[in-house]
Amino acid sequence: MMIAERATRIKPSPTLQMDTRAKEMKAQGIDVLSFSVGEPDFDTPEHIKEAAIRALREGKTKYTPVGGIPELKEAIIEKFKRDNGLDYKPEEIIVSCGAKHSLYNIAQAILSPGDEVIIPSPYWVSYPAQVLLNDGIPVVVETSEDEGFTLSAEALKEKITPKTKAIMLNYPSNPTGLTYSVDALSKIAEIAIENNIYIISDEVYEKLLYDGLKHTSIASLSEEVKSKTLVVNGISKAYSMTGWRIGYTAGPAEIIKAMTKIQSQSTSNPTSIAQWASVEALKGPQDFLDDMVAEFDQRRKLLVDELNKIDGISCRMPQGAFYAFPNITGVLGKKTPEGEVISDSSALAMYLLEKAHVALVPGSAFGAEGYIRISYATSRENILEGVKRIREALDRLS
Ligand SMILES: *Cc1c(COP(=O)(O)O)cnc(C)c1O
Repeated sequence: MMIAERATRIKPSPTLQMDTRAKEMKAQGIDVLSFSVGEPDFDTPEHIKEAAIRALREGKTKYTPVGGIPELKEAIIEKFKRDNGLDYKPEEIIVSCGAKHSLYNIAQAILSPGDEVIIPSPYWVSYPAQVLLNDGIPVVVETSEDEGFTLSAEALKEKITPKTKAIMLNYPSNPTGLTYSVDALSKIAEIAIENNIYIISDEVYEKLLYDGLKHTSIASLSEEVKSKTLVVNGISKAYSMTGWRIGYTAGPAEIIKAMTKIQSQSTSNPTSIAQWASVEALKGPQDFLDDMVAEFDQRRKLLVDELNKIDGISCRMPQGAFYAFPNITGVLGKKTPEGEVISDSSALAMYLLEKAHVALVPGSAFGAEGYIRISYATSRENILEGVKRIREALDRLS
C-alpha cells in the first residue's frame, strides 16, 4: 500500500514509546506513577456539565454554523474584552474542535509551500509537525534557560528570511511553565511588524498563572500588533474540559474567513453540545478556577522544592501551566548499576520508568535536550512518592 509523502514527513510522538511501555507495565500490575499527563486532574465543573445536559434535552443536537454558534462567539468576544482588553467582531472569531485544531486551521490558511514558521524551543510537540503537514518549514530557534526560555529579539532577527510567514509563541509555556514579560513581547511584536510576519499566540494556559502574575495577550499591545496576530485559546486547560474539544481563534477577518472555509470542508462545526457547555464555562461562575490555581500552586512549590534537593537536578520555579522542566545535565553521563550510560533525556526517562516506575517526558520531545518535563496535574501524595522514587533511582547512578 502506498501512503502519501505528506504522512512520512512527521514521526509519531516521541513520547509514544514511553507511553506504550508505561501501559504495558501497568497492565502487568506494576504501580507506575504518571507525571506525563497534559491535562488537569480535576473533573469538569458541575454547572458546565449541567449546561451540556440542558442543551441535549432542548434538542440542540444538530449542525451549527461552521465557525460556532453566535452565543459562543459572543461569550468569546466578552472574554477577550474582559480578560485581555481586546475588541473583536464575530467575523474575527472562529470556534474549532480544540485549540490544536485551531492551530492546524491557521497553518492550512496561511502557509504556502516553502513558507517558514519560526518556533522557539522548547516547543509544544505539535507545532513543527503541523507546519510540516501543511507544506511549511519549521525554523526552530533555541532559547536558553538563563533567559527564562523566552525568545530574544536578537535570536528572532537572525532567523528571519524573505520566506518567514509567522512566529509561534506559547505562554505560559508547555513544557517550561515560564511566561513572557510585556517588554519581551513588545520587542517580538516590533520585529514582526517591521518584517510583516504573523504572530500565532497560543495562550491556552492564560488562566494558570501563579504569584499574582497577570497574563498579557500580545495582540493587546497595539492595534497594529492585533492586525498581525492570531490569538489561540480554549477551554480545555482552564475549565478541565480536554475531552470536550473546543478551542477558538481571534484574528484578522480575512484569515478567519479562510479558516472557516477550510473547516466547512473538513470537520464542519465543533460539537453542538460542547459549544453550549463552553458558553457556560466562559460566562458562568469562575470560582472553580481560583480553587484549581490554588491547588496547582501548592503542588508546584512542593514539586520544585523537592526536585531541587536532588543531586544533579536543578529546577526553575514555573510561573504558569502545570509543568516543571528541571535541568538534568548533572545526571547525564552517569552509569546505571547495570552499566548502561544515561546519555540523554530519553535514556533517563526510560531508566526512571523501568527502575523507579515513574513516567515523565524527555526534553528531547520538546526540542530541548538536557531537561525532563514533569506534570504536576496529579495529587500531592503522588508528587511526594514520585520524587522519592526519582531520588532513590538517581542515587543508584555512579
Ligand atoms: C493542551 C495544549 C493545546 C491544545 O489544547 P486543546 O484545546 O485540548 O486542543 C494547545 N497548545 C498547548 C501548548 C497545549 O498544551
